[in-house]
Amino acid sequence: MTETVEAGGARIPLLGLGTWDLRGKSCARMVDEALRLGYRHIDTAAMYRNEEEVGEGLRASGVRRDDVFITTKVWSSDLRARDFERSAHDSLKNLKLDSVDLLLIHWPNASIPLKETIGALCKMKREGVARHIGVSNFDAALIAEAVKLSTEPLINNQIELHPFLDQSRTIAASRKASLSVTAYSPVARGKVMSNAVLARIAKTHGKSPAQVSLRYLVQQSIIVIPKTSRVERLKENAAIFDFRLTPAEMKEIAALASPHGRIVS
Ligand code: NAP
Repeated sequence: MTETVEAGGARIPLLGLGTWDLRGKSCARMVDEALRLGYRHIDTAAMYRNEEEVGEGLRASGVRRDDVFITTKVWSSDLRARDFERSAHDSLKNLKLDSVDLLLIHWPNASIPLKETIGALCKMKREGVARHIGVSNFDAALIAEAVKLSTEPLINNQIELHPFLDQSRTIAASRKASLSVTAYSPVARGKVMSNAVLARIAKTHGKSPAQVSLRYLVQQSIIVIPKTSRVERLKENAAIFDFRLTPAEMKEIAALASPHGRIVS
């Protein structure tokens, strides 16, 4: 379960636990359980208001801090340099950590100059608040701009990605700029479960449509961060490294994608 992808000197586990919408005790418990099951990557954000519980879960699991890849993000209303730095430092306080592995700009904000935000992001890396830095919800044009402005390597772009959404342009642009790609909403918030093509392919492999969707992504070296609030699904979502989709199956799944397949606006 610890397969990784490399980008800019970082080794990022291909599977992480998404935590949006996990709150309080349930969040701490899911992080704890996930780490006990072998997950080594947790995705949170200042906006999720659960960093404290993510930190609690991490400590409860007994897994060494350095063995876990922790990502957090700065929300789009905090992209002025001073707000950005405060938010990043607050994240460390909430998580009770000295640094995060990856700090992302959560969403671009057209009313704040990107240069100022990227400057603050780079500062957080230089000061050790973040071991690595990146972006989220950046399209091809924004990626190019960000890379030009950044004095430190950007290593990741986190975007909505699942079998129903065509993100080929953004993936190509990310890779061209040496950014790894993380797929959020990788099981399309459960919608993959009712797709006939995914169900048929899943049956062939003795897997679920969710597992096929996650496998489809990791087989392309795309990082996945499915969220679940159920322990049994933690196991299910992690059992994606013991089978392989054929080239024909990959093609069939790729054909489900449309540019209009977004769930998150
Ligand atoms: P997701 O992971 O695709 O879907 C989560 C939903 O699917 C939950 O309702 C969950 O229900 C269900 N589910 C999970 N595993 C399942 C399975 N094996 N079978 C059937 N249903 C399953 O969507 P997401 O939460 O939007 O995305 C994942 C993570 O990405 C988030 O938690 C967050 O960390 C990150 N994210 C980032 C951004 C961004 O702007 N950067 C935006 C959205 C999300 P149960 O809880 O009942 O299992």
